[in-house]
Amino acid sequence: MERRERVKETKRSSAGGSAEPLQTVQVPMLDLSREYAELIKELSSAIKQVFERQDFILGTEVAAFEAAAAARCGSRFAVGCASGSDALWLALMALGIGENQCVITTPFSFFSTASSILRAGARPIFADIDPSTLVLDPARVREALGESSSAERRISAVLPVHLYGQTVCWTEFEQIQQEFNSESRALSLVEDAAQAFGARWQGRPAGSLGTAAAFSFYPTKNLGAAGDAGMVTTQDAGLAERLRLLRAHGMRQRYLHEEIGWNSRLDTLQAAVLNVKLQYLDRWNEQRRRLAANYRHLFAAAGLAEPGPYPERSIVLPTVQTAAEPVFHQFVIRATHRDQLRSFLLGRKIGSAIYYPIPLHLQPALKFLGYHAGDFPQSERAASEVLALPIFPQLQAEEQEAVVAAIAGFYNQ
Ligand SMILES: *Cc1c(COP(=O)(O)O)cnc(C)c1O
Repeated sequence: MERRERVKETKRSSAGGSAEPLQTVQVPMLDLSREYAELIKELSSAIKQVFERQDFILGTEVAAFEAAAAARCGSRFAVGCASGSDALWLALMALGIGENQCVITTPFSFFSTASSILRAGARPIFADIDPSTLVLDPARVREALGESSSAERRISAVLPVHLYGQTVCWTEFEQIQQEFNSESRALSLVEDAAQAFGARWQGRPAGSLGTAAAFSFYPTKNLGAAGDAGMVTTQDAGLAERLRLLRAHGMRQRYLHEEIGWNSRLDTLQAAVLNVKLQYLDRWNEQRRRLAANYRHLFAAAGLAEPGPYPERSIVLPTVQTAAEPVFHQFVIRATHRDQLRSFLLGRKIGSAIYYPIPLHLQPALKFLGYHAGDFPQSERAASEVLALPIFPQLQAEEQEAVVAAIAGFYNQ
């Protein structure tokens, strides 16, 4: 309520007396303070309890959060850890993926999707994305697997990313896994679910689909902590046990180290924050879906939605697969003149963001992998066209209207 008034006030005060109505609603890309305003009492009390107990490392709330999060993900086990990047790395390590092994993944993701593979001692093999959904294309994964059968490199896993909150076409990946598996080899599927807590494929939640799944609770994710935090889920009891060992120096009994793990625990304070927020997640995800539907409605009304997959004159809206139930961690359009559009919006104080401007195979740090420009044309083209618009549960309808009006203004000028 307070917020709505604030938005109106801005409109009134800066529109002044001019006859021409100025577009004066400023829209942040993300404003976490609105969420905090709603949760301040609950969060303060949850944090206070941890301080009163002083059980900062693997305290009460960690086990409680792991149990609640596992249930939400339809997974038997959840193991909290220090970040989403660590979650990816721990999942690969627990699966025994390392030296002389390869993992197929997408070049259109956050850096740690690939760096976690290298940190585990394995090598990433990139496969291109589907131009309409922007997630790993199963057909390109099959090609990569085919090429590898002749080569010496052993492919142990596929690491698809549920980008922007939409799962990959999981049916296809399960089929690939079945085709590939034989007596002598097994293919693990590891989900990068960092952007997809609550997303589903044919009713099955992200986190319950793969051999293991990695989540991030980086503050800007759809379930965000008050700092760094992450989690791995799995249906496999043995794997869960290994993950617990690896996140705490391979130590079950104090100062007896069974293997070389690392320190990557989920802080009790972060778990306390996450326990509070987890109760709101379904509502928040539902609100994100409503906001996405409203963007579609507004863009259609403005005559600004091209069929795609590539934009020709203006923009293409996100494609949702029939079996997918996305959570719209991001609402990402493809736009012609993307960089000029972004500057234009910035000039009108409307936030937007680019996830991600440089595909991983062209990152300087990964040059040694030997990839070149042109190797993954869909990812490269997407990197030059994608633009994420503001979407967070507390975003107001007036703000969405301002975003769409500004974009219409850009293409109609
Ligand atoms: C955020 C993110 C990560 C990394 O998570 P951190 O918690 O920041 O380490 C990995 N993959 C994807 C797709 C992400 O969005």
